[in-house]
Amino acid sequence: MKEIFQSPPLIQNQFATIRALFDKNVVPSYGRFDLALSRGAGSYVFDTAGGRYLDLGAGIAVCCLGHAHPDILAALAEQSQKLMHVSNLYYTEPQGRLAAELAGRIGAGKVFFCNSGAEANEGLFKVARKFGHDQGRFEILTAVNSFHGRTLAGIAATGQDKAKKGFGPMTAGFRHIPFNDVAAARAAISPATAAILIEGVQGEGGVTPATPDYLAGLRALCDEKNLLLLMDGVQDGHYRTGRFQSFQRILEIPPAEGALPLPDDFLPDGLSMAKSLGGGFPMGAFWVREPYADLLEPGTHASTFGGTPLACAVGLKILEVIEREDLAGRARKLGTWLKNELLRLAELYPAVVSDARGMGLMLGLELAENIPAFARSRQSPAVQFANRLQASGVLVIPAGTRTVRLLPPLNLKPQEAGEGISLIEECVKALA
Ligand SMILES: *Cc1c(COP(=O)(O)O)cnc(C)c1O
Repeated sequence: MKEIFQSPPLIQNQFATIRALFDKNVVPSYGRFDLALSRGAGSYVFDTAGGRYLDLGAGIAVCCLGHAHPDILAALAEQSQKLMHVSNLYYTEPQGRLAAELAGRIGAGKVFFCNSGAEANEGLFKVARKFGHDQGRFEILTAVNSFHGRTLAGIAATGQDKAKKGFGPMTAGFRHIPFNDVAAARAAISPATAAILIEGVQGEGGVTPATPDYLAGLRALCDEKNLLLLMDGVQDGHYRTGRFQSFQRILEIPPAEGALPLPDDFLPDGLSMAKSLGGGFPMGAFWVREPYADLLEPGTHASTFGGTPLACAVGLKILEVIEREDLAGRARKLGTWLKNELLRLAELYPAVVSDARGMGLMLGLELAENIPAFARSRQSPAVQFANRLQASGVLVIPAGTRTVRLLPPLNLKPQEAGEGISLIEECVKALA
């Protein structure tokens, strides 16, 4: 933590006061870091005592333009003076325009707006159920180690026991298959199966990209068995990998030797979005491909706050800034540089860093097993490492027990990336 200005004595102890408020009044469902943040600017956030942190987590892949971006602030101010919210009983221009912008970046289809990633996935589950209903099919196969949200159906879909523990019985109709294994998917299909849902890059599961062969194989399998292929793009979408959606980026990777090339016209049948979509303004959406785009008829699905003029004005502005500043190109270039630096650390300090994975600005640094300095605490190595980085002025996000994620703003500056790597390297060196 760097003191960049003198804090007034009154707020010196604000962290303790805020934590006491939480302890007494906020449901303790999160493991929180010892940090109370009060403002942000660009790629930095500031705690209540004025300490500055390089925010490489960006609100878990949400703040794609960093904090307090002037164009987002202007869009919020302008639209809020015109019209903040009307119900979905009426038409509004921003929602129609944003739907066109999103579908235009994916493929022929339509968009439904909601408020979060879990809610976007719930919509996809309903599309799959409606699709299979007349044949008595309802089951959705999802991947081991996947993450699809914390609603009841979301935890049933999530392929991690820790999300389900204590909340049984699970919502029926979900089974898990090993990731990146087409044969296992084929073997798991039952007469009740209606859809397969995967993340292009598993996020919470530890930053594991799908291979192009897996996507090609699942597409062919779903076509053969008349199943919907659904993708959860909540974390890896919105240009994070260097393309609008991760499948578009994965499509560029040459297939393995002897494998089917991924068809140029590859598309999933449905795709969920949230996190970066509103850049910090809460919003979610799902896209569904023609000819399934009209499955959810009038009266079958709704969300009071979905696609408000205010949210959609922000969403439109974010896309405009990303294009104007070629932030896809930046995510790709800076992401490659960052990943190579993380791989360099893995090579230099194998006793501390065992691997670096990911694409674009969705990167995972895997810690080696049995790092002596981490043996004394019950906290996971990922959390302990994140704590050490926080103490030196960098925020990262744990994933699983031994991986930390870098999900920085897409407009991260090269010099900020450099600052992040030197602070991470210092921390790794101290552990070696
Ligand atoms: C974060 C996330 C979700 C859940 O999104 P919420 O907005 O927290 O409901 C779903 N899927 C993936 C892949 C995510 O990363």
